[in-house]
Amino acid sequence: MNTAVSVSRWRHPRFGYLEAMSVEEACALLGEHREKAYLVAGGTDLMVAMRNGKIAPPEHVISIKKISNLSYIRDEGGELKIGALATLDDICHSDMVKEKFPLIAESARQIGSRQIRNVGTIGGNLCNAAPSADMAPSLIGLGARAVIRSTEGSREVTLEEFFRGPGQTSLGRGEMLVEIAVPEQAPYTGGAYIKLPARTAIDLALVGVACVITLDAEKSKASEVRIVLGAVAPVPMRACKAEDALRSALINDEAIDASAEIASQEALPISDVRGSAEYRRAMVKVLARNAIKQAVARA
Ligand SMILES: Cc1cc2nc3c(=O)[nH]c(=O)nc-3n(C[C@H](O)[C@H](O)[C@H](O)COP(=O)(O)OP(=O)(O)OC[C@H]3O[C@@H](n4cnc5c(N)ncnc54)[C@H](O)[C@@H]3O)c2cc1C
Repeated sequence: MNTAVSVSRWRHPRFGYLEAMSVEEACALLGEHREKAYLVAGGTDLMVAMRNGKIAPPEHVISIKKISNLSYIRDEGGELKIGALATLDDICHSDMVKEKFPLIAESARQIGSRQIRNVGTIGGNLCNAAPSADMAPSLIGLGARAVIRSTEGSREVTLEEFFRGPGQTSLGRGEMLVEIAVPEQAPYTGGAYIKLPARTAIDLALVGVACVITLDAEKSKASEVRIVLGAVAPVPMRACKAEDALRSALINDEAIDASAEIASQEALPISDVRGSAEYRRAMVKVLARNAIKQAVARA
């Protein structure tokens, strides 16, 4: 594809700035410039990282913000489809998301300030691949998939497989994220996401825990449960042993406490300026207990 005709190009003092008007153009530009270019959507992660010197300015920044058909939020036969450019604010305020996938709206609401949510996108939140990314635990809990495009075509991976390490995803060269697909949830399913610190406009999660649980018709046992921990491992991680413990027990306070304790043992936290590993581990237990209880109450 000849991208020279339609792509707008200009020179920033520190990098070349290219504007893609379609997914095809963005993929072609990514293929052309390879590791010398970064995509930018809202820029709330990328521009801050460049300004703080966390990453060196690339030769080119490819803006995808003007791609017009990538900010949709729609129901497709029960599945929720969210375009990568949907802003966090779009997600918080979508009636469909609030009604059918309230956990997703709840998670988006807990991100940054109104100004950040107005500009920041779901695609940017996931592709930045911060272990503390607030959209990741809930979406993994709901079994979401990432839809990825390149000039070669399209592929999908589960969101669980999408994260590879801090700042690293399974996106290959020339690939971009175009959509998040969330399957319809079974009856008697409830979810909760709890983050520490709770909602201050500039704080990233020190710990975040999502729980999605499906109860049987008697509401005494869990037929399915996912407990996902954020900011306590290199990637958002499932606490699989804690899930197993809850799945095999009658749902009561004792079983929930035991599962939360196991989740805290499974976490792989580090100590840094924001908190010690011990504190984070202790908080996983508290947040997991509360998230499971809320999810059960909502199921
Ligand atoms: C003050 C402040 C507070 C914040 N608070 C929170 C918070 O509480 N919780 C939280 O999780 N985050 C927080 N953030 C981080 C940030 O706002 C979010 O992660 C936001 O969703 C990023 O979206 P963006 O569109 O701005 O990403 P961008 O900065 O545009 O992009 C981020 C990264 O993703 C890549 N990328 C973007 N879109 C795509 C795509 N479609 N395909 C492939 N790669 C892509 C870019 O190349 C870049 O590497 C905060 C940031 C600031 C500045």
